[in-house]
Amino acid sequence: MKYNITIVRWLFLALFLFLIVSGKVVLWLGLFGASLLVALFFGRVYCGYACPMNTLMIPAEGLSKKLNMERKKAPQFLQSGKVAWVALAASILAMLIFKKAWQINLPILPLWLVVSLFFTFQYGPATFHNLICPFGVLQRLFGKYARFSHMVNGEDCSGCKRCEKICPTEAIEVNEENKKASIDPALCFQCGSCRQVCREEMISYSRT
Ligand code: SF4
Ligand code: SF4
Repeated sequence: MKYNITIVRWLFLALFLFLIVSGKVVLWLGLFGASLLVALFFGRVYCGYACPMNTLMIPAEGLSKKLNMERKKAPQFLQSGKVAWVALAASILAMLIFKKAWQINLPILPLWLVVSLFFTFQYGPATFHNLICPFGVLQRLFGKYARFSHMVNGEDCSGCKRCEKICPTEAIEVNEENKKASIDPALCFQCGSCRQVCREEMISYSRT
């Protein structure tokens, strides 16, 4: 299953690169728009499977761990989550200005891709996913209402935190009092990594 997901991610990355090379990267924004509707039903599958930033952030994260790179705490000004909305507004404005003034389609996605790799090396993937990404902030909005999502079902969760540790988006929290895990569908990429590590088989992709 892990390899299937990786193949899907790299196929989407290949499509993304093809659109860049052929000068049609703006079509990717159409795919992104459609993915917001998909998120209402199936959660943030765009982020987990199609997003070229996430696909490259995964090996970047692996590399930074291998190199034992020091991980900084996200700066205070990012914590409110408003920066992602500012990033979204700035991206749209910049695209409109470049188009109107110079008839240029600003390659906004490749630019954000560079930013995402920088933040992954500096602060880890969750900081970019949850606090900065202008695409993620929209996915979060729609993903919150997903009809299907990964969830912790049943009472036998031991609170071992294996799922919490592996989640790339910090979507899982184990309650300190009752020692039960829960998943926030607004942050979940539906990648299934948590399901694979849960020895008690408490996690499933099911109706919310
Ligand atoms: S891995 Fe499973 S048992 Fe452990 S905290 Fe997560 S849901 Fe609970
Ligand atoms: S590890 Fe689980 S909770 Fe975290 S993003 Fe993947 S599916 Fe969602």
